[in-house]
Amino acid sequence: MRECARCPALVRSRSCVVPGDGAAPAAVAFVGLAPGRLGGDRTGLPFTGDRSGQILRRMIDRAALGPVFITNLVRCNPRDAGGRNRDPSAREIANCRGHLDAELALARPRIVVCLGRLAWHEMAGRAAPFDPRRPRPLRVGAMRLFPMYHPAYVVRGACTERAYARGFARLRRLLGAIALTAD
Ligand code: SF4
Repeated sequence: MRECARCPALVRSRSCVVPGDGAAPAAVAFVGLAPGRLGGDRTGLPFTGDRSGQILRRMIDRAALGPVFITNLVRCNPRDAGGRNRDPSAREIANCRGHLDAELALARPRIVVCLGRLAWHEMAGRAAPFDPRRPRPLRVGAMRLFPMYHPAYVVRGACTERAYARGFARLRRLLGAIALTAD
């Protein structure tokens, strides 16, 4: 996928292709939106080098979730005409879906956490309500999906770190309940 050129605009805007990173098998996979201009696009690793990445990785460590896999809907940084991060288009997300599915097939996570509305709707379907304040896991095929805000939400001050951490505590409890069922 490092040579992928399916999205012409992203081939122009990216510094590098940023594949998912982490453990396989993983207890949890996190699916964000796209590598950030100041983060993954510079470091080559998803959710590193910027504040969103710092917050996400700090929350993961504190919640002691076990081995995790971290990735995005798209693997190249999308920018607007002013050079700022933009959301990937529906076509770009669709172009990259095969790469995402291949990563998740390798990681085989017990839970897939969708970071933000776009990731949730891509994985769960448009009809599924996105409600991280009262999160309900959702089975889609073999995947168990869990909704959370994107850490950029915390960076923008729309959610406190303490409130964000409550979602990770719920996730930890869900993981424990799944492990008990599996035993
Ligand atoms: S976003 Fe995905 S599909 Fe598009 S060029 Fe990058 S790796 Fe290829």
